[in-house]
Amino acid sequence: MQIYNTLTRKKEEFIPRNPPEVTMYVCGPTVYDLFHIGNARSFIMADIIRRYLEFKGYKVKYAMNLTDIDDKIIRKSNQEKTDAKNVAEKYIAAFFEDTGKLNIKKADIYPKATEHIQDIIAMIKELEQNGFAYNVDGNVFYDVSKFTGYGKLSGKKIDELEAGARIEINEEKRNPLDFSLWKKAKEGEPFWDSPWGKGRPGWHIECSAMSTKHLGETLDIHAGGSDLIFPHHENEIAQSEAAHKGNKFVNYWIHFGFLNIQNEKMSKSLGNFFTAREVLSKYSAETVRLFFAQTHYAGPLNFSEELLQAAQKGLEKILNLAEKADEEIKSGKKGIVPELDIEKFRVEFEAAMDDDFNTPQATAVIFDFVREANRAAAQQAGEVDAQYYKNVREFLEKTAQNVLGIISSSAGQNKDEGPSLEGDLIELLIKLRLEARQQKNFALSDKIRDELKNLGILLQDQKDKTTYKKNKEA
Ligand code: AMP
Ligand code: ZN
Repeated sequence: MQIYNTLTRKKEEFIPRNPPEVTMYVCGPTVYDLFHIGNARSFIMADIIRRYLEFKGYKVKYAMNLTDIDDKIIRKSNQEKTDAKNVAEKYIAAFFEDTGKLNIKKADIYPKATEHIQDIIAMIKELEQNGFAYNVDGNVFYDVSKFTGYGKLSGKKIDELEAGARIEINEEKRNPLDFSLWKKAKEGEPFWDSPWGKGRPGWHIECSAMSTKHLGETLDIHAGGSDLIFPHHENEIAQSEAAHKGNKFVNYWIHFGFLNIQNEKMSKSLGNFFTAREVLSKYSAETVRLFFAQTHYAGPLNFSEELLQAAQKGLEKILNLAEKADEEIKSGKKGIVPELDIEKFRVEFEAAMDDDFNTPQATAVIFDFVREANRAAAQQAGEVDAQYYKNVREFLEKTAQNVLGIISSSAGQNKDEGPSLEGDLIELLIKLRLEARQQKNFALSDKIRDELKNLGILLQDQKDKTTYKKNKEA
């Protein structure tokens, strides 16, 4: 398996330190607001990588930090006239709700900065003792000039970084690239006691301290959006390797490309964002995941409704086959097992994913498979044996469902439910919508469709009828 390593700037064979265990650390959200669909791209691609490692038989120990104290959280708590803890708790709950809806597997550990203050203090002390940190009146900084490898991840020399960096000017720093390890508390700010006085940790040290605590001094994989390469990940390396006497911090660095809007990075600060929640009110998690999987994780991707709609159409084909398979398996029909070389598709899927998690290629393999599986079944004159569909479903389960997460485990769930009041009411709305359309009242017919979608009920117009499908959350 090959992984592109940001540190070495080439694809490398993946060799975990202690197979089958793989340690993986992904920078998580700062919990001051709902996360946007750009953040979701990073979280989903990390999730697909983790799922694929599991598919390969690795036991992944996966940690994602939650930054629950920082300037933005404090600012928000002042706006909302509450304390930082309340803000963090509110948005942590929202984070779990939204990642759950996006079909993102739970991490094994979600370390929070505020629950690791002592570990963070211990690491800063280590840095001080090793000569990498200095204290100016309660503010502790990392002395970048002391770390010879500074710049190795971003591939820049210190003087280039100084020239290009947009770093805060601070009189107390010896060098503009030096960064905060411990921030002295200002009036009214939350604080913890420390050897340097009352204050709170800087952002970078949190990841170094918590990854060490939960996954050890050397990680197999560390991932995050490419905006984090500099300075965040560069600083993490400087801290961890200086505190651990040069012990290598990370073997494979993986960085996700930006989700852009009109070629500009989607971000809170530019205001050009959609929350994941907004997008999920229009598209299913599976559609969103397929939309992301169709582009390689490292490249840029423009957010576009057309591409989401195309993904939705494509997904339909996969889901139809999965549902058909579920039905046929239930029926237990006896007949002919059409010829289909599933092994060939499995090999192709794996080859694509082994090549630096080439999900666009892997999804192409799945579309080929769906086409071939439908064709092979259609070519049979007689009954197709349920065993055929078992094989087909098993392939889809291992690949599209378990690795890409684009089929929920309940595909076809609402097919055999039998009559229910809910079902009858939906059918009634479908009928009313049809009448509205016949009267050319498209505003009303669209409203019915959109409102149902908000409830997680997706209408699908076919030639002569409209069917519906329920999202797994509905
Ligand atoms: P934040 O809450 O801003 O620290 O971001 C959480 C994660 O989302 C980090 O890994 C970021 O690098 C990533 N991220 C932020 N914006 C984008 C974007 N537009 N596209 C992809 N990933 C992003
Ligand atoms: Zn981090």
